[in-house]
Amino acid sequence: ATTSPAKPPQQKPPSSPPLPRQNSKTLPPSPPQIIRDGGRNLSFNRVGFLGEGGFARVYEVEDARGTRLAIKVVTKNSLKTKKAKTKLYAEIKIHRSLQHPNIVGFGECFEDNENVYMSLELCQSGSLMDMLRRRKRFTEPESRYFVIQLLGACHYMHTHQVIHRDLKLGNLFLDANMNVKVGDFGLAALIESPGERKKTICGTPNYIAPEVLFDTANGHSFEVDTWSIGVILYTLVVGRPPFQTKDVKTIYKRIRNNEYEFPSDREVSVDARELVQQILTPLPQERPTLHEILDHTFFTHGIVPGYVPASAHDFPPDFR
Ligand code: ADP
Repeated sequence: ATTSPAKPPQQKPPSSPPLPRQNSKTLPPSPPQIIRDGGRNLSFNRVGFLGEGGFARVYEVEDARGTRLAIKVVTKNSLKTKKAKTKLYAEIKIHRSLQHPNIVGFGECFEDNENVYMSLELCQSGSLMDMLRRRKRFTEPESRYFVIQLLGACHYMHTHQVIHRDLKLGNLFLDANMNVKVGDFGLAALIESPGERKKTICGTPNYIAPEVLFDTANGHSFEVDTWSIGVILYTLVVGRPPFQTKDVKTIYKRIRNNEYEFPSDREVSVDARELVQQILTPLPQERPTLHEILDHTFFTHGIVPGYVPASAHDFPPDFR
């Protein structure tokens, strides 16, 4: 999500249209109540609104068998420029090529006169951002559980030449069993030849790697996702991102100077601090690999729960 993440789906009234954002002048019309995939002769009954991002709205739908899924809707009005079309096609091409238990499953893509639709695996439990808002911060066992799943998804993406480039709590969704599902491939990039470097400045300020901002001549690659994993781990155990301040310029200055600290009033283990510090290494080539992260004592010497109970949405679980 590129805007503030929506509340978890179960708290929303069914079928409610998205609330107008303060800065949006005209709101696109809602998609039809019954969304039809003419080519496959399928129809989906729209049962709820899940959230909206930079250019899409996401609805909960039910297919003819009663199975619930998510459908991401992009209005064709927003696809008038070649750039917008290219961007959407890239997202679809990359997302549909990925199949992993910790990546939001991509179903089908179809269109009608007004919209392009993408059917997606439904993540009933909102995002880790929604959950962090309720919980304030997570225990270290929970953080290990979430980050291990994220590392698995990320390793899979990287071996398939995909850099996500927008890993953040708002793009880590949860299914009914509290499994992490990486979503929103709107900024993802495909590395088409070995050693290729990407030059587009993109990401979300708090999570963006220094080389994306300050080494535009050299470009960036897979290690930007590793950096974001470091920011995510810090955010899970502390409760807010490491470089956060009111204005974006100061966030960038802090990222440039590698300026962050662990607050003295929060108990964060030495292992967690050391791992975050290793990951948030300014030079991308000096950052640990995903395997090295997993081999760190934070993971090998700490409790890794086999599952996280649903009660963790509101209260810290006891994993002793
Ligand atoms: P954008 O690409 O426009 O940023 P996102 O893919 O981030 O859009 O989706 C916007 C919002 O829709 C998310 O923040 C989340 O609340 C909701 N959402 C997206 N995908 C799903 C899904 N598979 N299951 C449940 N909710 C989803």
